[in-house]
Amino acid sequence: MNTIDDKIVVKEYFNATGFDRWRRIYGDGEVNKVQLDIRTGHQQTVDTVLSWLEADGNLSGLSICDAGCGVGSLSIPLAKSGAKVFGSDISEKMVEEAKDRAKESLGNVDNLTFAAQDLEGLSGKYNTVICLDVLIHYPQDKAAQMIAHLASLAESRLILSFAPKTLCYSLLKKVGEFFPGPSKATRAYLHREADIIKILEDNGFSIQRNAMTSTRFYFSRLLEATRQ
Ligand code: SAM
Repeated sequence: MNTIDDKIVVKEYFNATGFDRWRRIYGDGEVNKVQLDIRTGHQQTVDTVLSWLEADGNLSGLSICDAGCGVGSLSIPLAKSGAKVFGSDISEKMVEEAKDRAKESLGNVDNLTFAAQDLEGLSGKYNTVICLDVLIHYPQDKAAQMIAHLASLAESRLILSFAPKTLCYSLLKKVGEFFPGPSKATRAYLHREADIIKILEDNGFSIQRNAMTSTRFYFSRLLEATRQ
């Protein structure tokens, strides 16, 4: 499968079966055990990012781009904390859901906007660019292009998460336990941490903080990189 196909497949998936699946996982209604595990793991990743940004004490008014924002799981709490947030996603359905959720939890606010747009097409400058659990949908060369583009939008900081390629997770993936369930419809790509760090460094960034979330079915390595 080439990289253009990956993007088309991912977009179609998150506008159809993937939308239904992930909207439920990223919600608070009833889900199966595997989905509950993924929900818990994902929430830990979101909470870690929020705790990093809150610890810095300058969230109010900070400009943040949440690239591949999904249903707004991070964008909405960031906006609630006073940041100026732009969330975008390749899936129109995810963005519509994000807008509905934002309206429900925040009402009409002027520090949160959403757009249906792929991250490769984003422009402008943001203090912080965040991209959570998106790179898993893309192979290494495409991920490198995406990170380079996100880096060009980030004045000061880039926060990324990815599924780490370790022997253990590679084996798990091989035996089909990594992303189980009938709605598994996209390929999952694991990335070597050293490769991601090299890409960040090549784009002028160095690692400041890192974290790892791992539950039974959810694995996500989180890196915060700032401009050198
Ligand atoms: N970042 C969100 C979060 O952590 O809650 C959503 C993560 S979800 C697993 C992956 C999201 O990435 C989906 O909403 C999908 O539509 C989006 N996505 C995939 N490829 C993208 C691209 N090239 N540009 C923008 N969004 C993309």
